[in-house]
Amino acid sequence: MSSSTLSTTVTAPRAVERLVVGQPTSDGAGVKLTRVLTGPLQRRLDPFLMLDAFGSDKADDYIAGFPSHPHRGFETVTYMLDGRMRHRDSAGHEGLLGPGGVQWMTAGRGVIHSELPEQEEGLMEGFQLWLNLPAKDKMRAPWYRDIPTAEIPEFEREGVKVRVIAGESHGVKGAVQREHTEPVYLDLHLEPGARFEQALPDTHNVFVYVYRGALRFDTGCTVPRERMAIFTNTPGSDGLVLTAGDEPTRAILVAGKPLGEPIAQYGPFVMNTQAELMQAVRDFQEGRLA
Ligand code: FE
Repeated sequence: MSSSTLSTTVTAPRAVERLVVGQPTSDGAGVKLTRVLTGPLQRRLDPFLMLDAFGSDKADDYIAGFPSHPHRGFETVTYMLDGRMRHRDSAGHEGLLGPGGVQWMTAGRGVIHSELPEQEEGLMEGFQLWLNLPAKDKMRAPWYRDIPTAEIPEFEREGVKVRVIAGESHGVKGAVQREHTEPVYLDLHLEPGARFEQALPDTHNVFVYVYRGALRFDTGCTVPRERMAIFTNTPGSDGLVLTAGDEPTRAILVAGKPLGEPIAQYGPFVMNTQAELMQAVRDFQEGRLA
């Protein structure tokens, strides 16, 4: 089913398959974060490879940032809820990511970049999602786009504000479209008790991460704050129906079409084979990623 044939009314919603608690960790030069989508879920949530949630008003938790490091073979999507981060990369791109903005970077055959806080105090909150590239695109030229908050399409309906970062929702096209994986990335702000439907092909893998309030389902299942819910790929299902609990609720919804290709990862390199990973490490060590 192509996304253009999807209705906006969901009559056969998917069920929650499982809830996932993120793992507290640190990355970069000591940034505290919660790794929500971890290695063991990469196959289940293909084409997504990682989701990190960060949020702190203690400068020590984020101030060191992510100094120069390489990537190859996938895309990184950083969504800032609060705070400012400056990006610089070896392809010559530079940008300042601010509250509500998105940075979409296609590493392709390789970039070396840094992501450093441009603030010494206050709240820093957001997400970094890694989206895999199909084998044929892993060595494509790097690409980069900063999308300021004002350029992210939004709409409101029935107590829900929807920010459409990627894909489409209720006829509103998002800031970024991608063929092959057809990602949908929404930030949902729901009033207490508000209900939201998102049409999705039954082949897409989909998860929701709740970062304020809670979601509840007709089945009696509740998804509390700081939990990821993975949804079943029920054949014949046509999407998701989400209902906020008694508090204002905010969640990101992420869906994509699986690539079904082998996944080989070594740190910041994600390829299809071990040989390609060894080549990536050699290319980095010998200065061919810059
Ligand atoms: Fe990075």
